Amino acid sequence: MPQRYLIALGSNVRHPRHGLPPAVLRAALAALADEGLVIEAASPFIASAPIGPSRRRYANAAACIVTPLSPPALLALLQRIEARFGRVRRGARWGARTLDLDIILWSGGPWRSRALTIPHLAFRKRTFVLGPACTVASGWRDPITGCTIRHLYARLTRPVPAPR
Ligand code: ATP
Ligand code: MG
Ligand code: MG
Repeated sequence: MPQRYLIALGSNVRHPRHGLPPAVLRAALAALADEGLVIEAASPFIASAPIGPSRRRYANAAACIVTPLSPPALLALLQRIEARFGRVRRGARWGARTLDLDIILWSGGPWRSRALTIPHLAFRKRTFVLGPACTVASGWRDPITGCTIRHLYARLTRPVPAPR
């Protein structure tokens, strides 16, 4: 059965052939389409500050895709594409990487296995995920909190009143 997925894309290392991070994301979307995934919508690319030990800026984007693949099968495909783009897993999370492809939501609700948790555990706190996601899936509800993407993003970016 076809499933819909919300994918977050990130890159902060240039690729020897594709070039700078935004070009890496463009090539990654093309690679997903080549693998037979239907890309229903892709967000504009944004630039974001790095988290963790890496100092380089990221390009980030989000995409809605449709595929009959199960979550573990899609994760395996995404990791194959990351590896093809030269990503080397050195143990440390959040290191510099040519390409990161995360599964944020899927149409089947919550999923939990050793290697995979959907919704992605950190996405509610990440403007670089929610901002692009708002442009392709603003009305999609997080099955854990019941909030829409739009609502989660607004909650995160709303200015906090100064104490008086
Ligand atoms: P973060 O998950 O905080 O964004 P990261 O994307 O840098 O960090 P990775 O090194 O890409 O982390 O992935 C580490 C592991 O996370 C993967 O091997 C994968 O099994 C697991 N994982 C769990 N849930 C997900 C998910 N929803 N999407 C992608 N990977 C996931
Ligand atoms: Mg990630
Ligand atoms: Mg990842």
